[in-house]
Amino acid sequence: MRKEAYEFPLEDFISSEDFKKIKKFSKDKETPFLIVNLQKIERMYDEIIEHMPFAKIHYAVKANPMDEVVLALKNKGSSFDVATVYELDQLLRLGVEPERISYGNTIKKEKDIAYAYEKGIRLYVTDSESDLKKLAKNAPGSRVFFRILTESDGADWPLSRKFGAHPDIIYKLILKAESLGLEPYGLSFHVGSQQRDIGQWDNAISKCKYLFEAAGEKGIKLKMINLGGGFPAKYLSPAHDLETYAHEIRRFLHEDFGEELPEILIEPGRSLAADAGIIVSEVVMVSKKARFNQYRWVFLDIGKFGGLIETLDECIKYPIYCEKKGNAEEVILAGPTCDSMDILYEHHKYAFPHTLREGNRVYIFTTGAYTQSYSSVNFNGFPPLKAYVI
Ligand SMILES: *Cc1c(COP(=O)(O)O)cnc(C)c1O
Repeated sequence: MRKEAYEFPLEDFISSEDFKKIKKFSKDKETPFLIVNLQKIERMYDEIIEHMPFAKIHYAVKANPMDEVVLALKNKGSSFDVATVYELDQLLRLGVEPERISYGNTIKKEKDIAYAYEKGIRLYVTDSESDLKKLAKNAPGSRVFFRILTESDGADWPLSRKFGAHPDIIYKLILKAESLGLEPYGLSFHVGSQQRDIGQWDNAISKCKYLFEAAGEKGIKLKMINLGGGFPAKYLSPAHDLETYAHEIRRFLHEDFGEELPEILIEPGRSLAADAGIIVSEVVMVSKKARFNQYRWVFLDIGKFGGLIETLDECIKYPIYCEKKGNAEEVILAGPTCDSMDILYEHHKYAFPHTLREGNRVYIFTTGAYTQSYSSVNFNGFPPLKAYVI
């Protein structure tokens, strides 16, 4: 077998100047930890606005709920989508006005709806009759948007099946909402997170068009479409750039709705926060299972329970860099806990220099979303993932 030197396209993920700063910042800190670059999140916000000026951003707080991130986006003028009363409380504590907050979880307790209503929330999602009745009782007169079921084909991290309902059911819910004294305001969908097939928005927007017309025939004028999240971050598997997404989605919208578009909301989480994060981790051990096994195992001090749960089924493939030099050697990458499912990548083989040793640091890029908030509290005694902002 020919030996190739280890290579990594570092410049695709960070400038050498910024990387120097990251190394300086992290030098004396104990790994693992996440570093979030707030300016990068702000730049992504601007970029989304630039390419999708027709859309209002409701940041999906769950992607990265750090106070600093929320405050940076609040100051940018963003609105927010929350899933729980806990996220709601956090936003209110940080001074976000209730008019800028939507309650975007289809699964809610009655008392939580009542709480949100009391705090001034007037925009809710729903996808079932049961939830709709709870809304009518506890959030009377509120604006309601209805989530349509989508397939999530083409998404690296699907959000299908569990959320949304078939258009037939949605149609009935729209009529029912009005008779219950709610305001049927619009429709929403989520095509799946890290959705690499832009055509999925086309399918979903067509369903919206159909429902706008069907409701219109009953005298109900829907006013809003919430295009959800699904916009890309920069992992190993290639995706189009945001500009292409924006261009295509705008085309789909105009094809179905003509010149006069309804009010458009988007709920980006991953695409706003992921690229702004770097996890610094250390190699705990390198070992071989048997003398003639082809692959060495590299154990990092972060794994599935420390914040990298999106490596489940190897769905999300993070770019991982180490500074050593040498011939590239494919390895199996695993986390540090005593759970045998805590393996990061086994089928997709990551290559590292054969010189990689215990104690060396690795840099895991594109980890600003869905990492810290997923890390376990105390599994094996490991503390939750630390995070710093720069
Ligand atoms: C998680 C979530 C989002 C964010 O999706 P991304 O793909 O991370 O942008 C948006 N809307 C809802 C309702 C969600 O649950």
